[in-house]
Amino acid sequence: MASPTQKARLENKVAIVTGGARGIGECIVRLFVKHGAKVVIADVIDDLGELVCQDLGAEFASFIHCDVTNESDIENVINTTIAKHGKLDIMVNNAGTLDAPKLSILDNEKSDFERVVSVNLTGVFLGTKHAARVMIPKCSGSIITTASICSVIGGVASHAYVSSKHAVVGLAKNAAAELGKYQIRVNCVSPYVIPTPMTLKFHNIDESSSVYSNLNGKTLRPQDIANAALFLASDESGYVSGHNLVVDGGYTVQ
Ligand code: NAD
Repeated sequence: MASPTQKARLENKVAIVTGGARGIGECIVRLFVKHGAKVVIADVIDDLGELVCQDLGAEFASFIHCDVTNESDIENVINTTIAKHGKLDIMVNNAGTLDAPKLSILDNEKSDFERVVSVNLTGVFLGTKHAARVMIPKCSGSIITTASICSVIGGVASHAYVSSKHAVVGLAKNAAAELGKYQIRVNCVSPYVIPTPMTLKFHNIDESSSVYSNLNGKTLRPQDIANAALFLASDESGYVSGHNLVVDGGYTVQ
């Protein structure tokens, strides 16, 4: 719960967080619950997702197995959420995947490119589409996608990753343009590098590495991204739509 001096900013809201079983997504889940939301975690790692829900309490968080690249899985998550909670206020398209950063385009297999794009772009398209389906009749909703600094610059990750992250910002802008008339807002949050299972695996370095540091050695944390997502989810950002909120300590302005 939010502390007595803190106002709960998502009271009575219902949210889905894809990729909420660990990393940035888990942090978003925990912060949203702290601020009064009921949250559904949609992920492929069932044991971790269930563990987060047990920790938070079944009343506040529940888990549904969902591969975001599979349209019927996404439909099932949305429909089950509506059946359980009666509405969907916030959709966080956070599930993502990364491949080897230094792979030359000459060695980049089509199948590997498509695997990353399938999760990072098609998964976001499906989440946005089916969230919009249930939000349009209510004329209300906030859709948030976890993009990346790779949505605004190149040269810092694989071709597939950078392409997919640029593309989700375009998708958010296009969806925002269409869905504004239903008072549905669509935004992205774009993190700098954060030590999570995803980056620890591919950078093959520990959490103390300077690759994670910006702003004179300060390390970005999942909590910083959860705070940005909380703002975009809450009514405080009620006039913000089609925006890409870059959280990088100024890295991409250099
Ligand atoms: P993570 O690997 O810790 O978490 C990603 C989660 O997504 C996992 O729980 C995983 O099971 C889930 N997932 C992957 N494929 C899925 C699928 N097909 N269907 C459902 N769930 C799936 O990574 P993270 O760092 O927390 O990444 C979260 C998001 O943040 C991703 O979109 C990532 O691209 C983005 N991001 C991360 C960083 C970083 O440095 N960590 C920086 C910028 C953007």
